Amino acid sequence: MFNINNLINDKLSAKIHSEAEIDYIVKSYLNNNFSDQKMTKWLKAVFINQMNIEETAFYTKSIINSGETVKFNNLNGFIIDKHSTGGIGDKVSLILGPILAACNCYVPMIVGRHLGHTGGTLDKLESIHGYNGLLLKEKFKNIVKDAGISIIGQTDQICPADRKIYSLRGKTNTVASLPLICGSIMSKKIAEGIEGLVLDIKVGNGAFINNIEEANKLGDLLTLIGSQFDVNVKYIHSDMNQPLGNYAGLLCEIIESIESLKGNGPQDLMNVVYELGIIALNMAGQNNAKTKIQNVINDGSALEIFYKMIYMHGGDIKKINIKYKYNIEIRANNSGHFYYTDTKKIGEAVNYLTLLGDKKDDHAGIKFFVNNNDFVKKGDILFRLFGNIKNNLLFSEKMTNHTYKII
Ligand code: URA
Repeated sequence: MFNINNLINDKLSAKIHSEAEIDYIVKSYLNNNFSDQKMTKWLKAVFINQMNIEETAFYTKSIINSGETVKFNNLNGFIIDKHSTGGIGDKVSLILGPILAACNCYVPMIVGRHLGHTGGTLDKLESIHGYNGLLLKEKFKNIVKDAGISIIGQTDQICPADRKIYSLRGKTNTVASLPLICGSIMSKKIAEGIEGLVLDIKVGNGAFINNIEEANKLGDLLTLIGSQFDVNVKYIHSDMNQPLGNYAGLLCEIIESIESLKGNGPQDLMNVVYELGIIALNMAGQNNAKTKIQNVINDGSALEIFYKMIYMHGGDIKKINIKYKYNIEIRANNSGHFYYTDTKKIGEAVNYLTLLGDKKDDHAGIKFFVNNNDFVKKGDILFRLFGNIKNNLLFSEKMTNHTYKII
């Protein structure tokens, strides 16, 4: 039998693991056969010495096999999903998912909670009163069939190992490793039973990856692993040198997504939605993709699907409104061109703003008033922080102090 201490030492000396060894690590950790500390040591060893393509494929397969997989029969449309490597204000899944469903695709989407400094789609959806994002497989499948889309998190049934490892990576600074990101993303996506996947690899000072070479390396790895499991993968990179859209937080991002589905989305956000949406619909064999996307926004059908999905998950759309007691405005100290220098810190400030013991202040967030390269005048408003916990606002305000420059 294997021993975790030996396997940690093997990885620390850059040895290649076998399929059985990787399966042992993933399954034994899930079954609590060794501690978080041991798993952290192994994750850190992978962080330093990587895993090769074969190891990454074995790792992905072990996570998939840690739970059940979803299979769809007789769906009259292409089964596709979209995923991002993580950003700030990145609500593209919430907009593009319903758009694809309105264009006759089926979208079974398994997502994560916030990871490190980045926001999580599941947290945002769970800020809707009543939304249940941890459904059993049959219910998940039924909602996909009926509404065209369902968004859930990793559960005890589907990808439980990713659920546990994902949470540990977030706490131990072991997120930004290509094989770990790849195994985490692709296990969820392959387990969903999809035929195609479009990926948004975020690049910049608010992303886990800050250069195009690394982004391409990750994109190629994700594509290769996808092809080994019969999933057609296409990827883009998009800018994360500033938050995406005008808001970052929880409920405020749901509201921005609804506004976007009504046709009022900010340009930078909608550019990413269209770029990925066109690739996705082409992959599904559809022509005139841009017009189709415009049509399902203009005729309200994509929004209707989003509402239907929320309703079928137990969410109450009537309670989607923001209530906060405090807000702080941050203004320009001088005139000049504005640039975000540390978007990651903005993400950390957003996470801090929403902290509320074991729960979350769903109503907290940041509104962004300027983009990179905009000219601002002394006294112009840059951000508005809002929420219900005064100390969170005061601390987050400090965190935003060194996140930008005006020159
Ligand atoms: N998204 C995921 O699902 N996993 C990662 O590791 C990073 C982004």
